[in-house]
Amino acid sequence: MRRKLAAGNWKMHGLLADLSQISALNADHPDPATDILICPPTTLIVPACAAINGGAVQIGAQDCHARASGAFTGDLSAVMLKDAGATAVIVGHSERRDAHEESSEDVRAKSKAAHAAGLTAIICLGESLAQREAANTLDIIAGQLSISVPDTAVAANTVIAYEPCWAIGSGLTPTPAQIGEVHDFIRARLTTRFGEAEANGMRLLYGGSVKPGNAAEIFEVSNVDGALVGGASLKAEDFTPIINALK
Ligand code: 13P
Repeated sequence: MRRKLAAGNWKMHGLLADLSQISALNADHPDPATDILICPPTTLIVPACAAINGGAVQIGAQDCHARASGAFTGDLSAVMLKDAGATAVIVGHSERRDAHEESSEDVRAKSKAAHAAGLTAIICLGESLAQREAANTLDIIAGQLSISVPDTAVAANTVIAYEPCWAIGSGLTPTPAQIGEVHDFIRARLTTRFGEAEANGMRLLYGGSVKPGNAAEIFEVSNVDGALVGGASLKAEDFTPIINALK
């Protein structure tokens, strides 16, 4: 059985004062049935790990460089993020694919670096609205999946997040049938490539306007093993009902 995962992506939100939200989650879920991961801005990784103090909540990062070290001003390697206390890193988020022109080849290299550093790679995929309207969703997902996921992927180090670009921060979500179609498709593709045992262990998250009010319906969809949550992960009072809906 795959453990459920509630992952929060804080994006460029969060100051030291907001660590209290992570501490509250940690106190409320001392022994959760669900894995809980918060990916705060990088400045908060070290103090967040200190705040959790060995508790149940895990801390992740939002991006990494593909190289372990080097002359890359302003960048951070997966090795550094692991050293800071992160257990996972989001790679290929659509905001990075768009704003930083990251290709699926870049995402594969970053995922590989994450694996080499001992981090779980949370690899994001998703179609634009124009691609969905042109009935190209499964083709886009197939292409992103085959290139972005490296051969180093196994069940223990890889999570796939399906995040339709048009659902992120918009309040719009696909129907359960649309989510199920994509998640079943991803599972089938992973099975063909990695074999049933590994593919069955890889967790598939849905992301895009997940809120306390729609989480339960989304989590009933086949092959949805949790969520990657943006806005509703910033406050413990919003994220807690989402975590509880996964139980
Ligand atoms: P929202 O939950 O704010 O729509 O963001 C989703 C997301 O991009 C998580 O990575």
